Amino acid sequence: MLAIGRIEIPRRGANCQICGNKFNKGDSLVSCLFQSGGASLVRVDACHGCSGQSAEAPPLSSWKSIMPGEKKVSMGSRQKDEAAKELFERLQQNPSGKEPSLYLLALYLERRKVLARRGEVEQEGLAFFLFEMPSSGETYSVPKVEAAAIDLASLDEEIKSIIGI
Ligand SMILES: [Zn+2]
Repeated sequence: MLAIGRIEIPRRGANCQICGNKFNKGDSLVSCLFQSGGASLVRVDACHGCSGQSAEAPPLSSWKSIMPGEKKVSMGSRQKDEAAKELFERLQQNPSGKEPSLYLLALYLERRKVLARRGEVEQEGLAFFLFEMPSSGETYSVPKVEAAAIDLASLDEEIKSIIGI
């Protein structure tokens, strides 16, 4: 059963789903989302060599990415990123009424390179942005909010007030 305002998206696999090779740090891969019979989406992650071989039907969305390595972040920023990440994950579970905050957090985390934008999908008449957390491969749906409703200049202030630091 699909929760209102949210799409369940499988996380990135550890291996190419076509040749079975493990993804290593720095490998480029292609991820595709396909509509399945039910309410959930099917995800296919393929290595560079196999990409393009999986498509029986055009995907709802697809994106290229690089398997991440370790990244260095200063402690203060990391604490704030962690707080923003936790709140983002909590709101993402139940975004109803909190869509603008969720989207602001996604923008903040995108700017901090914690999340990467992976396109848009429509499901049951609702539009969503897709964001992937490259470090974990976890992929999230964020209900689309009118960009005009968001004042980017005050993003930092908003984030501070949302996460409370
Ligand atoms: Zn492959």
